Amino acid sequence: MRAVHHWIDGKEQPGTSGRTADVFNPATGEVQARLDLATRSEVDEAIASAARAQVKWGATNPQRRARVMMEMVRLINRDMDKLAEMLSSEHGKTFPDAKGDVQRGLEVIEFAIGAPHLLKGEFIDGAGPGIDMYSMRQPLGVVAAITPFNFPAMIPLWKMGPALASGNAVILKPSERDPTVPNMLAALFKEAGLPDGVLQVVHGDKEAVDALLDSEVIQAVGFVGSTPIAQYIYERAAQTGKRAQCFGGAKNHMIIMPDADLDQAADALVGAGYGAAGERCMAISVAVPVGEETADRLIEKLVPRIEKLKVGPWTAGNDIDYGPVVTAAAKANILRLVERGVEQGAELVVDGRDFSLQGYENGFFVGPHLFDRVTPDMDIYKTEIFGPVLSTVRAKSYDEALDLVMSHEYGNGTAIFTRDGDTARDFASRCNIGMVGINVPIPVPLAYFTFGGWKKSGFGDLNQHGPDAFRFYTRTKTVTSRWPSGIKEGAAFNFKAMD
Ligand code: NAD
Repeated sequence: MRAVHHWIDGKEQPGTSGRTADVFNPATGEVQARLDLATRSEVDEAIASAARAQVKWGATNPQRRARVMMEMVRLINRDMDKLAEMLSSEHGKTFPDAKGDVQRGLEVIEFAIGAPHLLKGEFIDGAGPGIDMYSMRQPLGVVAAITPFNFPAMIPLWKMGPALASGNAVILKPSERDPTVPNMLAALFKEAGLPDGVLQVVHGDKEAVDALLDSEVIQAVGFVGSTPIAQYIYERAAQTGKRAQCFGGAKNHMIIMPDADLDQAADALVGAGYGAAGERCMAISVAVPVGEETADRLIEKLVPRIEKLKVGPWTAGNDIDYGPVVTAAAKANILRLVERGVEQGAELVVDGRDFSLQGYENGFFVGPHLFDRVTPDMDIYKTEIFGPVLSTVRAKSYDEALDLVMSHEYGNGTAIFTRDGDTARDFASRCNIGMVGINVPIPVPLAYFTFGGWKKSGFGDLNQHGPDAFRFYTRTKTVTSRWPSGIKEGAAFNFKAMD
């Protein structure tokens, strides 16, 4: 049985707790590795060592730190297939999708090469007589990143790139479900020239997370995961005065206006609803067609597309549309919610409940589901299902559709499909959602913009990547300097030797 250890001080380090977690192959349901789970004291030791390493790293000039990022870009590209294969085998997503996971993380490392520019402060001369004022951005020290299972390369890289390039040391606590890729990334950072101890990967569960939250050394926590845990982390981190940004769950709506190109909208919905088995925080899980006729035509176009979806293991080739969900528990939860939807009166237009894949009967595969006539009081509308289940809520008007988006507790992403610029503009301006797509179903901002949701999808200030990340991982010091006049000599008209 393969063992996954912690990555401490530049090397794999077996845990001492005696506690482990099973890492599954979601396609077969078999355990493929055992993961060490850290104790509080193991976490504390990793932090102490990181704090020692950070002193020199924080004082290294930004250009040299940026060069580590440059080399990291080369190494990730070199190992892209290796990383994606491991990612698919532990997460279950298709191979092209796994490459996309690595790629979107890589783009933030590319952005972090610009750290020297992003870390510059401001300056004004002559703020008063003999007075200049300037600000500088300094690293925080040791920061923690706690990441979810659904993007095991992208989200750790979103944290590590800006935090490390800003001169911090990072303790990464990745998801227990797919922990190997984060270790591989840490090994690549070492190869890229990152000094030992500056990046520690500590594996664990609540015990390890609580140790990070309670540590007086850790200065900031970047969390991504489900909303209840995001809120818990935000509150507990605040008790020791930490800076925290905690991103949570989602229920992303896509409005389809009567003037939309319905073939385009249906294609977009299928990709955004079922890609990665619906296990994306930016997945579209609610379709909101405006008007009965739009709804009828949309459902008519969706059904054959959904019935054609190819569900299978990543090893079956690149024409698989999506793979298994991450665990047996996730599968059971999705199917429980589907039953609840039926009980509460939603119309199950595509029923994936009996889906089974020959040869992979023990895998965590879930067939695609499409619900019609879902209403806002139903559990399948209120809850994040995080599976291949798309709900259709019919709206009578644009205002009713907008109201659904506005009233939902989550505010991560949303989209509108229309040919009318005025409607699109109004929607983008008025909706209370962090990321908006106009004829784009999954509007994930590129690395040089920032990523973050509103309402229960994001706690704290400042988003992930883009310039916000550099603000989050540094603090501002403002210096006011006064050099009184009268100490310099009078005018001199000849060159003087510098002594
Ligand atoms: P999760 O909340 O179960 O786990 C996230 C992290 O928190 C993991 O590292 C886990 O070990 C840790 N954790 C879990 N329970 C804990 C507890 N009781 N105390 C302390 N730590 C705990 O989330 P997940 O299932 O890994 O990921 C899926 C969720 O993440 C979905 O809700 C999805 O929408 C969300 N997500 C959000 C974004 C975003 O940017 N908003 C991005 C990706 C995923």
